[in-house]
Amino acid sequence: MRVEVYPGKEVVVDFDPELTFECVDDCTWCCHHGVLLYEPDFRGLAERADLNASTTEFRGRDFVRREQKDRTAHVDDDGAACYFLDDDGLCALHAEHDWKPARCSVFPLEVSLDDEDIRVSVREEAEEHCDGLNVSERRVVDHLDAFLPERLWELADPTTKVEL
Ligand code: SF4
Ligand code: SF4
Repeated sequence: MRVEVYPGKEVVVDFDPELTFECVDDCTWCCHHGVLLYEPDFRGLAERADLNASTTEFRGRDFVRREQKDRTAHVDDDGAACYFLDDDGLCALHAEHDWKPARCSVFPLEVSLDDEDIRVSVREEAEEHCDGLNVSERRVVDHLDAFLPERLWELADPTTKVEL
């Protein structure tokens, strides 16, 4: 099914339209990992944070880096999490700047390119780890603008899952 997310900007929805989502307080699973930064996100982050401290480059792509945290909550099994994930389980970028990288908004969805179309599906890891799927009345398909920032349509390749 095709959905117009912004005027003239459509996606192909590749998940059950009855899927609901509401992020669960204290989960933070998706913030335990490095975050891919598209070029507009890299520029946007430069206006809000120290890129030397907060980012890393891997195989030619920029990421928000993970770091070891001095705590036991809101970390992955190895004790690390996203540079911006604070002790209270909140994103410092979002709290201070009301902004976050596009990749963070998209989760638990995944964006891929199918010919000229942007295709949106549920990320495979989310099915296993995201506690927010199907726990509310909020249908994802009715709120796609909350997951898909308009800048995705500016990108030559908005694919969110990148095999490195
Ligand atoms: S994994 Fe899902 S429920 Fe957990 S913090 Fe991320 S979006 Fe929210
Ligand atoms: S930038 Fe913020 S929302 Fe994105 S992974 Fe890091 S803590 Fe989570």
